[in-house]
Amino acid sequence: MKDGSPTFAKIVEGIDKSLAKGITVNLRVVVDRDNIEALPRLARFASKRGWTENPHFKTQIGRNYELHTCQADPGKLYSRVELAEELYNLVLKHPEILEFHRPAFSLSRFLFQRGELPFPLFDACPACKTEWGFDYTGSIYPCTATIGKKEETIGTFYPSVNLEKERIEEWEDRDITVIKECKNCNLGLACGGGCGYMAKKSKGRVHSPDCRPVKELLEMGLSLYFEKGV
Ligand code: SF4
Repeated sequence: MKDGSPTFAKIVEGIDKSLAKGITVNLRVVVDRDNIEALPRLARFASKRGWTENPHFKTQIGRNYELHTCQADPGKLYSRVELAEELYNLVLKHPEILEFHRPAFSLSRFLFQRGELPFPLFDACPACKTEWGFDYTGSIYPCTATIGKKEETIGTFYPSVNLEKERIEEWEDRDITVIKECKNCNLGLACGGGCGYMAKKSKGRVHSPDCRPVKELLEMGLSLYFEKGV
């Protein structure tokens, strides 16, 4: 809350009421170095509350990340692979976390649960495809990560509708078949080229790679799901 008052009880009440009405809840838990130790407690809480048995209850574990500048202390942030390592170690100590959330670890969870590989991933970035961003000034952006960054606007919806077609096409066209570095990458169909905005921020072009740590994630996921921590 803006005044700093607590929100946990209100969120719990909201989840209880939503699930009771059969409304699907996708609970996103944003973790950093300060709060990750509380995850096992949250998992046990969700389990006692009956949430984890409810088919309408889903979870995500996310991280705050480098694209946003609102962090008071960027030192608390995990990189993608660091977060996976922390989760891996935490799950070995507290396997009850898996009732609350099963991390994907690239293809590992899918392979474990379904016994087959998922469809090839040609494109990991939803920008200007399944995701768009709109803000209160009337501007349109390629995705949620770019909202509010004026240099990233791709048009307006107010006071008039105006789309910057060339910029939109650049986002729409982005996949591993057009990014030079991805074309012959042996991880391509598991990685999908990563986040277009992260790629643009680091390399200056939308059609550039944002390499995902596929090998490291797979090693952790296969160890956790198939080899029980070996
Ligand atoms: S790992 Fe890097 S080069 Fe390979 S597909 Fe992903 S973004 Fe492209």
